[in-house]
Amino acid sequence: MTEVYYGPDFELMQNQDPEIASVILSELERQRNGLQLIASENFTSPAVLAALGSTLSNKYAEGYPGKRYYGGCEEVDKVEVIGIERAKKLFDAEHANLQPHSGASANVAVYQAFTKPGDTVLAMSLPHGGHLTHGSKVNFSGKWFNVVSYGVRSDNELIDYDELRDLAIAHKPRMICSGATAYPRLIDFKKIREICDEVGSIMWVDAAHFIGLVAGKAIPSPVPYADVVSFTTHKVLRGPRGGMILSKAQHAAAVDKAVFPGMQGGPIMSAVAGKAIALAECATTSYKNYAKKVVENCQALSAGLEAEGMRAVSGGTDTHLALIDIRSTGITGKEADERCGASGITLNKNAIPYDPQTPAVTSGIRVGSAATTTQGMGIAEMKIISSLIARAIKEGDKAEKAAQIRTEVKELVHNFPVYPEK
Ligand SMILES: *Cc1c(COP(=O)(O)O)cnc(C)c1O
Repeated sequence: MTEVYYGPDFELMQNQDPEIASVILSELERQRNGLQLIASENFTSPAVLAALGSTLSNKYAEGYPGKRYYGGCEEVDKVEVIGIERAKKLFDAEHANLQPHSGASANVAVYQAFTKPGDTVLAMSLPHGGHLTHGSKVNFSGKWFNVVSYGVRSDNELIDYDELRDLAIAHKPRMICSGATAYPRLIDFKKIREICDEVGSIMWVDAAHFIGLVAGKAIPSPVPYADVVSFTTHKVLRGPRGGMILSKAQHAAAVDKAVFPGMQGGPIMSAVAGKAIALAECATTSYKNYAKKVVENCQALSAGLEAEGMRAVSGGTDTHLALIDIRSTGITGKEADERCGASGITLNKNAIPYDPQTPAVTSGIRVGSAATTTQGMGIAEMKIISSLIARAIKEGDKAEKAAQIRTEVKELVHNFPVYPEK
């Protein structure tokens, strides 16, 4: 990244609404001055930000290119067609839908395309890393569907494929979901396909977290195996906030109908344009190098935290995220989250498999390398970050220690500036 981007006509906004303009500026400063280790966050490119702030936001475009419910869609049609073609090419997919407003909305559409309320769906258990939309009781998925959950084994903390298969045979789910928000390892999509074929289930992969690594060819793709793949575009993929769905051609009409008119009205065309830009960025050699570095960095971060006496769940990571059991420090996930926050390190508390603590407290933290790698950090910085995290967990409750760590964090991140001034 070589140029600063405050948004089009930022000065105009400052004059018209200084109250909101100042918040936008101070959020930029927050992003610049701390360590951003939330595994689902990244720094999108100035070009994507520009698309989001563009006049495409004004256009209603209910429907699909060439089949809209409003006039004046000839320009936005081009953007969506380009985006769809880029997505199909990048992921070698038969069909792509760029309209979902978010990852959760993409998942609403997947349920709608393939199931009826009351159907049985098999998905990863939330305490073992699954997402709210995989059957949480407070989410539509848990309220409207009979969601049965599989988890990870207690001995190696890897997905228990034997349990998954047994549950599939016992419950005959209409659909089997794989993919999670806090699972650091690769998923065996071939094996899940075999189970789906054995019991006649739709294979749905929620690739929200790791699809960017697939785009950068750093890890294997679920696309050849799955009937449908849903994901967010703002995590490792580094695009605008939003969702996307890929599917086999035979499911194209069901997916499109489920998104519109099934779940949404008009698409956010500025976001669709941002997705198209991000997809082109993902096809570059520089993004491929980035994706590879994200994994290497996360492995270094995970190993660094282990060297500090903490334990990486499943013994490490194959992806952009690591789940760390911090019980050895005597500090809970909640306290660690707070202490790191006070020290300028943004990460999140996270339940570990078979966590003895409640979900609000937890025994773990989740860290990710997507944002720091975008900043240009490497393995040497991951070692420094591991020691900063360890110090923050141990002493970040003391104001002067937290201030000292915050100073060191600032020194580190200022060598890798986010959206630097021109
Ligand atoms: C992030 C995430 C989502 C939800 O995405 P939103 O854009 O926040 O709605 C869905 N599924 C998984 C696995 C995720 O990690």
